[in-house]
Amino acid sequence: MELLKERVRTSRLLGQDENLVLYGGGNTSVKIDGILWVKGSGWDLGTIEEAGFAPVRMEALLDIAKMDSISDSELVRLQKEGMTDKAAPAPSIEAVVHAIIPYKFVDHTHADAVVTVSNTPNGRELIEQIYGDKVVVVDYVMPGFILSKAIAEAVKGREWSDIEGIVLLNHGIFSFDDDGDRSYQKMLALVKKASDFLAQNAQIENSFLASEVKKALLKDEISALRGCEVEIYTLDTVSAKTLASLANLEEIICGGPLTPEHVIRTKPRAVIVEEGEEAQSIKAYADWYGSYFEAHNDGTKIILDKAPRWGVVRGKGVFVAAKDDKEAKALKDIISHTVDAMLRAEMLGGWQSLSLKDIFAIEYWELEQAKLKK
Ligand SMILES: [Zn+2]
Repeated sequence: MELLKERVRTSRLLGQDENLVLYGGGNTSVKIDGILWVKGSGWDLGTIEEAGFAPVRMEALLDIAKMDSISDSELVRLQKEGMTDKAAPAPSIEAVVHAIIPYKFVDHTHADAVVTVSNTPNGRELIEQIYGDKVVVVDYVMPGFILSKAIAEAVKGREWSDIEGIVLLNHGIFSFDDDGDRSYQKMLALVKKASDFLAQNAQIENSFLASEVKKALLKDEISALRGCEVEIYTLDTVSAKTLASLANLEEIICGGPLTPEHVIRTKPRAVIVEEGEEAQSIKAYADWYGSYFEAHNDGTKIILDKAPRWGVVRGKGVFVAAKDDKEAKALKDIISHTVDAMLRAEMLGGWQSLSLKDIFAIEYWELEQAKLKK
């Protein structure tokens, strides 16, 4: 299985670059003799092994792609049914998307640079300006089956050989090729275009009001809401302090996460803390979270805790509130990337990620909930 070895090697290269893949985000696949080997859930691209790929019959996936609609649980069931090795991990819910892209190797990442540019008011125009018509641009829809439909629609009437990649607005990017290294190189080249654009048009300036965040005051309030003890960690980066000192902080914070899957770890938005009013600020967040839940719950969902996972102390800095070391590391990494993206997007007209409706659909998605329980 030379191709599968190749797939493992380039998946790790992608997964170990945190500007491309943060915390389990992204997925890859290779097609070998009618079987799609796609990243299994619970595996991290940076450390994936051959056993981390789920083998699913292409025929089964292409049959699903032809359907008009399908529920998430039915999709999971049919994908499982199509597996040639039932002991392998469950295939990524993006398996159908990988199947309809007619190349052996398919790479999908949530590259910061690409989502940063797309998370702005003129995101689509900027992406089109950066890539021209060689890249297909798809409006945000839920990952999974609906996304495969949106991609099929977007490439209608076009030759795949003319397409260098696919950008999913507010979400990420796909590259593909019959050669594993070339697909990886294409991903790097595509992401570099967005990075170069940011370097030219949205270079982060170093200006901030430096001062300490009062951790103890936050810790008690957030622990009480979370139902377990959390520790407060400050992000001592220039970007974090710059964000905290921006006049339109509320507007930016309401703009949503970097890429949809982050919401599972970060909650839809940060808490803004006014110094001296720590308890009131945290309570206001909990109230907001409750109303966000009520506004989008269809009556079947059970509310998660209302504790913020990260926050901005106005004029001071950014912190994360984590229940253990593992969560602290994940939050610090994700939020430092998010803060940079927000600052750059500000220079491109404003940070504007997903709507609360879209965020809710991910945060309360049964499949995402299952992922966290593992
Ligand atoms: Zn994705």
